[in-house]
Amino acid sequence: MSVRFLDPTLINQIAAGEVIERPASAIKELVENSIDAGSTKIDITVRDGGKTYICIVDNGNGMSADDLNLCVERHATSKMPDNDLFNIQTLGFRGEALPSIGSVSRLKITSRQANSDNAWELLIEGGHKSKLTPASAPKGTKIEVRDLFYATPARLKFLKAASTELSHTVDIVERLALINPEIDFTITDGERQVLSFSNGKSRIEGVLGKDFQENCCVIECQRQDLTLKGWISIPTYNHSSAGNQYLFVNGRPVKDKLLATAIRVAYQDVLASHRHPSLCLFLICPPDEVDINVHPAKAEVRFRDPQLVRGFVISAIRESLKNSAEKSSTVLSTGLVRAFTPPSSATATHSVQTRDYNQGGFVRPTSGVSSGGQQRLSMPQKNVNFESFSEQMMAPLQPPTVIMDFSPTHQVTTNTLTEENYLGYAKAQVHETYIVAETPDHLVIVDQHAAHERLIYEKMKRDFAQGLIKRQSLLIPEVIEFSEAQLALLQPHLPAFHTFGFTIEIVGKTGLVIREIPMLLSKCDLKQLMHDMICDLKFQETSEVVQQAIHEILADKACKNSIRAGRKLSGEEMNALLRQMEATPSSGQCNHGRPTFVKLDKQALEKLFGRT
Ligand code: ADP
Ligand code: MG
Repeated sequence: MSVRFLDPTLINQIAAGEVIERPASAIKELVENSIDAGSTKIDITVRDGGKTYICIVDNGNGMSADDLNLCVERHATSKMPDNDLFNIQTLGFRGEALPSIGSVSRLKITSRQANSDNAWELLIEGGHKSKLTPASAPKGTKIEVRDLFYATPARLKFLKAASTELSHTVDIVERLALINPEIDFTITDGERQVLSFSNGKSRIEGVLGKDFQENCCVIECQRQDLTLKGWISIPTYNHSSAGNQYLFVNGRPVKDKLLATAIRVAYQDVLASHRHPSLCLFLICPPDEVDINVHPAKAEVRFRDPQLVRGFVISAIRESLKNSAEKSSTVLSTGLVRAFTPPSSATATHSVQTRDYNQGGFVRPTSGVSSGGQQRLSMPQKNVNFESFSEQMMAPLQPPTVIMDFSPTHQVTTNTLTEENYLGYAKAQVHETYIVAETPDHLVIVDQHAAHERLIYEKMKRDFAQGLIKRQSLLIPEVIEFSEAQLALLQPHLPAFHTFGFTIEIVGKTGLVIREIPMLLSKCDLKQLMHDMICDLKFQETSEVVQQAIHEILADKACKNSIRAGRKLSGEEMNALLRQMEATPSSGQCNHGRPTFVKLDKQALEKLFGRT
């Protein structure tokens, strides 16, 4: 068959295959257009999870008749005025979404500019465009998408149940709402409103819940041209999936492997590997440092200097976690009181929001508070105004500070407690497992095993980092076969492995010989370990991969060598443990993200006994 140009509708359908994966991706593109058009209110209605009907109504700038006629043509866009792919000021720039959606559905666009006498309407069905007709509509744009993928039945078969499709839509709109706090958003499923964000309401609380608010710490860090701001959960507040991680790069929601890995690495020391923190992070960098034109859906980005970004994110998160080391207790005690308090009073004081897309109760209360003409966040790139943004987002969200009032008149013991002694003075041991301590304002309960395990682990890590690596020669060197590609990946890291106590050689094209290993790893399955490390080397640096393996072993040793539950402790021993905990960073949780202590303040105690 001779070479020919593809039919334009087919070209659009091919593009739609990449850009429009499901109703949520069509909605993402349409809502981004509404945001780019300067809207302050965006209402989304779907039926059957968006499979049969999607409608987006905005109050943005609208389009003239000429623009409307052109906007459904491929690569037609009003954005990117200076044709600079590295200085994109809008969410859209490819001119692909509307023609793609129009080629696989029945699309109707009604739009009116403020200075126009009437609106204009355009229909496009399976890629075939009708003539423009005058219509009546308020200023702004209304886009209706019926029967998405009716023109590409194969894709239609991939769609999931309506509730699943709806949850994807809610997820993407939540992300866009987080970065656009000045825009009101609603989602209605049939007759039921499933999401409502109005101006002034804490979006973080609305999206991540009140519990997150109580379990997070603020991050604000700058290095060279990079800035990272937002909120991250303390290690004791974790989930089985990474679904509660909201990441933004220069005002754009992204799902980025590099950032996801950096987060995993930053938490790996305080969280079990299958648990994930919740977070909302805004990375701001110069526009020419990041390429957003990686994939048509624009959810992936590529950094000019990935290692710099990665290292920056890891150290910013670690620093912030270190500073919040003692926080786990305050949060957990709230949960403890909640568990004890009779239901009626519990609901009065703590309204915990849960997400359930399948139940009628999934309605976010709208706030009556209006921010009264707050400045619009200058959207993407150069001047992301985090100050005004964080004011809007954070005001109701200052994480509670740990109350520590050690006034001299309230000394609990003859021992002198200082402000650093936030774990107080040991009063008793319960069930030979828990230490009960008292500060002037708190009751503290410490899990002796978890706490001691953490202390030993931190000490072993310190020793290890100080170069006290003992090497062990293998009597019979371990020979492991790998593929050529795997060894090519490993080769540049061999010197780094050496500094960690390994002596490794590559023999032939596929053989790896291990002659020396760090003593700590003497009982390991070396083959498994090397395979795991090679796998991780794709995404991480050598030092982190080796350190991770070594830390896992250390954690295991720490667990075996720490005070067991069931061992009687003397008063001195208990107090010594408390003081060591206070002096050790990250002692608020064990190596798996479980708390080492909980703290109840006087108020909480009074609440338990109905004294307030
Ligand atoms: P892109 O957003 O990349 O430009 P689209 O296909 O999504 O491509 O949209 C094409 C053009 O249609 C936009 O550049 C914009 O001018 C116009 N447009 C689309 N949606 C709206 C809207 N809701 N309000 C105003 N103009 C819109
Ligand atoms: Mg667009």
